[in-house]
Amino acid sequence: MENKIPMHIDKEDPLYKAIFELPKTDLHCHLDGSLRIDTIIDLIGKQGVTFPVDRAKLEEQLIMDDMVYSKEKSLERYLKAFDITCALMQDTESIERIAYELAEDAAQENVKYLEVRFAPILHTNKGLTMEEITSAVCKGLARAEEKYDIVTGVIICAMRHFVPCGIELNLLKSLPYIDYETASVLMAVQTARHAVAMAKKDHHIVGFDLAGGEKDNPAKRYREAFKIATEGHVPITIHAGEAFGPESIQQAVVDNHAKRIGHGTNLHKNELLMTFVTNERIPLEVCITSNLQTNPEFTRYEEHPLKKYMDNRLRTTICTDNRLMSNTTVTKELYIVAKAFNLDLDHIKILISHGFNSALYNCYFPESANAYKAMRKLRSKVTKELNYRDALDNVNESYNQNTK
Ligand SMILES: [Zn+2]
Repeated sequence: MENKIPMHIDKEDPLYKAIFELPKTDLHCHLDGSLRIDTIIDLIGKQGVTFPVDRAKLEEQLIMDDMVYSKEKSLERYLKAFDITCALMQDTESIERIAYELAEDAAQENVKYLEVRFAPILHTNKGLTMEEITSAVCKGLARAEEKYDIVTGVIICAMRHFVPCGIELNLLKSLPYIDYETASVLMAVQTARHAVAMAKKDHHIVGFDLAGGEKDNPAKRYREAFKIATEGHVPITIHAGEAFGPESIQQAVVDNHAKRIGHGTNLHKNELLMTFVTNERIPLEVCITSNLQTNPEFTRYEEHPLKKYMDNRLRTTICTDNRLMSNTTVTKELYIVAKAFNLDLDHIKILISHGFNSALYNCYFPESANAYKAMRKLRSKVTKELNYRDALDNVNESYNQNTK
């Protein structure tokens, strides 16, 4: 598939190699968007699901390389790919395996801290409970942590739009007069309660998110769910300003107390809000390849507002979103960013350190040998490894020169 990528990824480039070697984070990574093709083929065989098993056909349906520089961005096609992956993630064994393999893939490119997110309701088609699903994810991640030098966290997602999945369809059957909007709000509230309950049981649970179609589904509709998460001390990150304007980000940070923003691609369209987000040190989880694939405003990486955000000193962290659909890794995303915006390794190190400084924490397990303690240790180790102070001085110096 490599030849279809408009930006040439030269794995022999010393810059690529240097980025690969650096300790990194991935704070925005969807479990159902980050399966290996080999695993998909294996699971199709094992589960007897009727999908093509031909690798080329599968890649065509699942990998969106050709959409990066295209004017035609088909969100429909992008989302259809998730129908395939989710169909294969309806039993605990497969879910655990996929979580394990994702952490393994990340560890193998020196990602030291990974936050994996998923919407439990999407895995309820065959009767699994939300608790069984989340426990399977945590188990898979814990298994990878034993084997590799990686710390992981879990973000539980509620969905903005009505999803015709097991649990939600059952709800409609039981309550025939309920409308889609009310059903999705109810499910979000349930998911928030689930996130709080699981955070008390498993140190991996570090956040609550709202994902899905932004248009016509404003975040403020889900205020009750966010209230439950906040009162339960589960930190909030929200997909906002990806497919909708800055008002979506306004709702996320003002109405719903988001501690981080997923994407925030349209934040630059409101200067005042951008200043607020910068001053509040609210990090943006930037997934540049994914944005190029779904946002019709961009046909070149250089058109993405990332550089503007960096120049405005916004806390931006580079993430993968969907390793499978976007055919990417953290190394690749950082390399693309460096190439597109002509950044040196010091700038890349600052982006990486933003990731380590923006990790979410589970406050129910503060003193045990858990992600919290491991993350703190990791952060100070990485700060030394990245030579953070020097990198920061150099980057600040380059900004000062530019603004003189
Ligand atoms: Zn996302």
